[in-house]
Amino acid sequence: MTNSMGAKGTGGTRRAAIYCRISQDRGGAGLGVARQEQDCRALCARMGWEVVAVYPDNDVSAYSGAPRPKWQELLADIQRGEIDAIAVWHVDRLTRSPRELEDVIDLADRQGVELATVSGEIDLATPTGRMVARMLGAAARHEAEHKAERQKRQRRQAAEAGRIAGGGKRSFGYEDDRMTIRLSEAEVIREGVQRVLANESLASICRDWHARGIVSPAGKPWKPSGLRRLLASARISGRREHTPRSSWETTRPLLGEIVADAVWPGIISHEQSDRVRRVLSDPARRRNVEGATKRSYLLSGVLRCGKPKADGEPCGYGMVGRPRSGVPRYVCPNVPGTDACGGSATNADRTDDHVRDMVLAALESPLFMQRLREEDDTGNELYDEIREDEEELEALAADMGERRISRKEWMIARQPIEDRLNRNRAKLAKVSRIAVLNDFVGSFEDMQERWQKMNNSQRRAIVSACVRSVEVRPANPRQRWDADRFVFDWIA
Ligand SMILES: [Zn+2]
Repeated sequence: MTNSMGAKGTGGTRRAAIYCRISQDRGGAGLGVARQEQDCRALCARMGWEVVAVYPDNDVSAYSGAPRPKWQELLADIQRGEIDAIAVWHVDRLTRSPRELEDVIDLADRQGVELATVSGEIDLATPTGRMVARMLGAAARHEAEHKAERQKRQRRQAAEAGRIAGGGKRSFGYEDDRMTIRLSEAEVIREGVQRVLANESLASICRDWHARGIVSPAGKPWKPSGLRRLLASARISGRREHTPRSSWETTRPLLGEIVADAVWPGIISHEQSDRVRRVLSDPARRRNVEGATKRSYLLSGVLRCGKPKADGEPCGYGMVGRPRSGVPRYVCPNVPGTDACGGSATNADRTDDHVRDMVLAALESPLFMQRLREEDDTGNELYDEIREDEEELEALAADMGERRISRKEWMIARQPIEDRLNRNRAKLAKVSRIAVLNDFVGSFEDMQERWQKMNNSQRRAIVSACVRSVEVRPANPRQRWDADRFVFDWIA
């Protein structure tokens, strides 16, 4: 072990070793190791690990069987109990053969060593994690790997220089030169971004585009997955992103790291792009998309059960669409193991109509719109604050990576920033939804007409731009329909 380190990690912190290896010294391999180390340091900062040593094996051919001195050193240090975790760029950097991988798995068992890779964490303590590690290791056909390594380096360097990656089809929104904006498609992209920010589902936008004959550069109808990648890409905001990826990993993560302003012009602003990327990568949204294939209930997730529980507090559970004898209803679901009381229901059609009328009436009021817009204006301030906090967090992580500050100082400094960041992100997600109203608001009759032409996904975007939730109080048994049951929690 070359670096100094204590016998124990401070306060239970994992003591991490970074292992870097370049398989073949071709075209600036030293840079390859530096890049691996840099990426691994950032990874350790994210994991909250303390980097205590770096083991760089440079210029050792991958499958020649040549000795790897730093690798041997690392194994010895793990056996002595001086290392709790290994950070590595990819599993194939760590071992050269299935046999070596099994040795690492054994060590992980005996010493409790954790392993994280830049291309995705692998938990060697679980059977699944081991299977993944073995598969990745086995797939490392070295010829392919060498090729991929060079290409990856070139892509990364091109990305950093803000240049255009070679090959492939024309990008939607741009002409064949990939530099000139194609105005008709740019318009469609801006519209798609607006609609996503307004919480409309990707499937709904695709259906609409299909009806309007809008197709991909390959001439095919847009699918939600492709549309998602299009709108989440940094490219359309004139920025270049880089995604670490191995040639045998077929699914690329949705978001890469934004590394540079590109040489081509953006179709949407950086701000819009950051917002839409945040919305599209939100796991809560994904669930919505998957559920969208079932019969769509406008107010699922908006209606809250207001039936009092034993303590007098309202149940508060989200009501869901569930028909009885063919009549669509919203009910408090009777799901064992949840807090739902299962004791309230309301007719879905009549409830939808009532909520629609209330929302349109509110939108007709200039005062309501003014208050909503004030909320929306705070979005720009929020956005600036979020940007600043994110940059500060990155700077802090870099400071710790370079050992300008201690891990303890870093933990203390980042906590208030992260808290503020989480609060502001939640707020921003809400105000972004208001954008949908810009093209919708008009006279009551105009809005009713537009409403008729909308699908439920679009309608839900309108409703959730106006109300946080609607509480459904117990029905008056003497009345067939009781509008007073519904208590609106307006956003403004
Ligand atoms: Zn309930």
